[in-house]
Amino acid sequence: MDAVVNLCKRRGFVFPSAEIYGGFRSTYDYGPLGSLMLRNVKNAWWRSMVQLRDDVVGLDAAILGPSRIWEASGHLDVFTDPLVDCRNCKERFRADHLKNLDVCPNCGNKGTLTEPRNFNLMFKTNVGPVEDSSSVAYLRPETAQGMFINFANVLQTSRKKPPFGIAQIGKSFRNEITPGNFVFRTREFEQMEMEYFVPPDEGAKWFEYWCEERFNWYVEHGIPADQLRLRPHDPDELSHYSAGTSDVEFMFPWGWGELEGIANRTDFDLKKHSEFSGQPLEYFDQATNERYTPHVIEPAAGATRTMMAFLLAGYDEDEVNGEKRTVLRLHPRIAPYQVAVLPLSKNDQLIPTAREVLRALQPHVMCDYDQTQAIGRRYRRQDEIGTPLCVTVDFDSLEDNAVTIRDRDSLAQERVPIAEIVDRVKDRLAL
Ligand code: ATP
Repeated sequence: MDAVVNLCKRRGFVFPSAEIYGGFRSTYDYGPLGSLMLRNVKNAWWRSMVQLRDDVVGLDAAILGPSRIWEASGHLDVFTDPLVDCRNCKERFRADHLKNLDVCPNCGNKGTLTEPRNFNLMFKTNVGPVEDSSSVAYLRPETAQGMFINFANVLQTSRKKPPFGIAQIGKSFRNEITPGNFVFRTREFEQMEMEYFVPPDEGAKWFEYWCEERFNWYVEHGIPADQLRLRPHDPDELSHYSAGTSDVEFMFPWGWGELEGIANRTDFDLKKHSEFSGQPLEYFDQATNERYTPHVIEPAAGATRTMMAFLLAGYDEDEVNGEKRTVLRLHPRIAPYQVAVLPLSKNDQLIPTAREVLRALQPHVMCDYDQTQAIGRRYRRQDEIGTPLCVTVDFDSLEDNAVTIRDRDSLAQERVPIAEIVDRVKDRLAL
């Protein structure tokens, strides 16, 4: 964990936010490499969930919403965590995270923790110049409600019919009592959620389907299956809307932690929004002349948390020619850069060819370009940030019009004609 957090700061993946002002607890900024990687995590999800399917469409809904949405969804009533305070050291804890409610885990005092009280996790704000109850709004604590309140709009405009899904990626906000473990739990984070609307009697079937699909997505993108598990919720753990939930969990350095929850939400959300808005949120099946409220299966993942899991799973240290190297074994779709173009030296003769190779590759993949320091050190720098391929331009390149492709994991080198570089790189990356 320390090695990954350290690498993130040192190489520009993740910076603690507002650092020049002394920091702002548990908020983070994604730097040049982190912004690329986070974007790749989201793109990989979108590719699997929207692009490669014909039954899921996209949405990008507002972050600010009126109280009515959150009354209908139940968030105003029940989106709470049990909060306890220590009367001695003033630390706050989530009661459900404490093993022993008699002893403060921070100062160790006995009998100083208060009784648990419910604390609503939503960020409340006011819209417009008047701060009265009619101007109260909330930052969304999940992206899901955007899909439910747009159900009728999407149904009409997309001409989809159940089973079909609406997918969305975006920021969510929760006033977490105990944020921490780097970007695992933050108050501002990004989610990747999909609501899959199905005929009422098909809920169980599609729930199983999405549990399997989503588990496999993490494996396909490079997390070893033995560091993942699918954990069904106990009945007393289920959310108020759920007829079944399973979490995809990853073995974090401190133990199993949730990456994604897959829930069978039944018709709870559409019915509630229909009741509170007075608008029908149903599907009319012309084939059978039946009108029904679809049931919903929701795979809800965290983009920022998933990025952290990819970093932890990919982090490795090995030895090359007797020298220790740090390597991030990231999937080519997830790595910040897919290719680094490296002239063997800063020699003026090599630069034009190197730049020509760079320009050829740039429209197809994200490239880094680096011409300073010894080539061995530049390979190490690319290994450390997970770049799958390095393309090296040397003095022979000027004669044979070919370059060397070096593989991050096998370290194998292959000579390739410059004229074929785009195709060969694409083949190797199998994006
Ligand atoms: P937890 O039990 O960890 O608080 P949750 O069960 O409340 O999470 P969901 O409401 O199911 O989480 O949200 C779906 C996903 O969003 C989670 O699996 C996680 O990846 C991500 N997520 C939720 N809260 C946070 C947070 N505070 N910081 C980062 N990611 C989060």
